[in-house]
Order: sequence, then C-alpha cells, then structure tokens
Amino acid sequence: MDKDSSKKKNPSKSRLLSALVIVILLAAVFFMVSDAPFIKGARDTLMRSFGYEAIDEKEGSEQGEAKDNGGGTIESAGKDNIGGEVASLDVGALPEFNGEHYVKVNGNVPEFPAEVYERAGLENKDGKIESKSLTPYEYYGSLDDLDRCTYAFGCLGEETMPAEGQDRGDISSIHPSGWAKAQNWERCHLIAWALSAENANPSNLITGTHYLNYDGMRPLEEEVEHYIWNTGNHVLYYVKPYFSGDELVARGVQMTAKSVEDNGKGISFNVYCFNVTPGAEIDYKTGIVTTEEQAAQDARTYIINTRSGVFHYPSCDGVKEMSEHNKKQVTATRSELTAQGYTPCGYCEP
Ligand SMILES: [Zn+2]
Repeated sequence: MDKDSSKKKNPSKSRLLSALVIVILLAAVFFMVSDAPFIKGARDTLMRSFGYEAIDEKEGSEQGEAKDNGGGTIESAGKDNIGGEVASLDVGALPEFNGEHYVKVNGNVPEFPAEVYERAGLENKDGKIESKSLTPYEYYGSLDDLDRCTYAFGCLGEETMPAEGQDRGDISSIHPSGWAKAQNWERCHLIAWALSAENANPSNLITGTHYLNYDGMRPLEEEVEHYIWNTGNHVLYYVKPYFSGDELVARGVQMTAKSVEDNGKGISFNVYCFNVTPGAEIDYKTGIVTTEEQAAQDARTYIINTRSGVFHYPSCDGVKEMSEHNKKQVTATRSELTAQGYTPCGYCEP
C-alpha cells in the first residue's frame, strides 16, 4: 500500500469508527451515573484524585467498617478518605508551649469540617446549628502512611457513651506511633472512653504524656461528659493530633466542641493542648523522653565563666559576650558542676 491510497476514505472504516465513538460515549455516561458498587467506588476514587469528596457516600460507607453502638454509628475511614481539615492551625506554625496546658484556637470559637455537620444530619447556618435529622455517630480517620492517627470526630451523646455498668476494655495491645518503652507514655484517646466507649481502636489512641492526657484533655472531656449526662443533649466534637514533619509523636492535639440543641450555650471551645511534660525534653521522632533529673546526670559540654563561676550551654548569648580569657569549656554532668560550686546561668538554664 502506498501513501496516497492509505489517505483515501474507506466508508466501512469510518462507520466502524463512529460506532466505536458511540460505544465509548455510552460507557462514559454509564461510568458517571451507575450505582453499581464497583463502578461507584472507581468513580469516587477518580473524583478524589481530582480533589473532590464523594458526595453521595452512603451511611455506614462501603469502605469503612460500621458497627452499631446503641444508637450511634461508628466508622473507620478508608485509606483514601481525606477527612477533616480545619483552617485555624498550621502544622508549620504550631503554638509554642508557654506553661499553659492549652492555648485557644480561632478565639475559642468551635470550628468543624463540613463533614462533621453532614454526618450528624445538621447544618451550620452562619454559626447557628440547624437540625434536619440529628444522628449521633463517631468517625475515626484511618492511620496515615506512618501509622499515625489522623483525626476523630462525632456527634456525641448518651448513645455513643458506654452503657451503664460497661467495663473499660484493655488497650495495652495498642502501640501508637512513637511509642517507646519505659518513657512513661500514656495511651491517650482522641475521643475519651467515657464519651465513645472506644477501647483498643488504633485510630483513636496516640502516644501522649500524662500532662496532655490528664491535665490538658481530661478537664474538657469531663465538661462534655457532665453536660451530656445533665442535659441529654448532643455535642459536636472534633479532635486532631498535629505531627511536625515525619515525627511519630504528636506535638499537640486540637479539641473543638459545640453543644447542638442549645447551639453552643452549654459547650463551646476550640483549643490546642500541648503534648509535653514541663521540664522534660521529648524527642518527637523516637519517643525518647529525657527528664530534668536524667539531663542533670548526662555529661555534656558546658562553658564556665571562671570569673563569675556561672556555667552555660555553649549556645547561650552569655557565652558570646564573655571575654575569651574567662571562658573554660568542660565536659561534665550538671550535678558535678553544681557540686564544685558553679552556678547555672539564669538565662539558658543549663
Ligand atoms: Zn547562659
């Protein structure tokens, strides 16, 4: 066949081509509208890859396991379900610990991703909650690629709480990301057991300090618990741990909650709780904690001002201002230096 003859129109070939186009169009339409589960799943995945959330996800979705908890629904999200994001906290600029258990976020005004309202059958009309058909539920985002918890939220009420006489289960089998042995870590629920009756759910437990667990989060959890018991009302609740980069231990946890029936009169907060132990140094990559006492026992480099008898960390501004002939570098433990009569600098606090 030469070049010219290949360009000649072939009628049967063009009919075949238009038939093919029609078949492809029909297939595309079928793909867009079909409710067959595998096609719907593929469509949702495609939509998500373009940044859209599936809008017609069924209650008790196919990708998560749903179980019943005396009226409330519990779900675990599928791996590709990117759930709650709230605007106020930037992982690149998290608040610095300043001695308080938590800091307010967004002026303490509650904030939730739209999904938190939607799953509860609620609407947020300019800060006022409107109920279409209130549905208590809990939802746990799946672990990320580093097996870290992502978020948990729900519309909490008596339905999601433990039944009377229900015993708390064993959670010691769970080793959350960053869990290191013998560092006094606690398994810290994103949604407290008293609110969710969730025991060994890996999507709900993070590696947390006693300070975070008991001093930061618990008073807020108890506030919500007592409110629900006293009123029988419901509370929208959203908890998200924040990890810096690829660290395995969370730097802190955002907790935000708003009571539904009274539109936030009873419960209304939005805070960031610090996952710290005051005085201790935490390696958030490994989960290794160095307490003040341990730090004092570790030999390290200090700079002594031989004239004043004050010792500093080498990085201290006081060292830069010190005249060279007063500087003495030593490798020692803190307690050795104080035993020799040296005084720790009040600025760098070695
Ligand atoms: Zn100093």
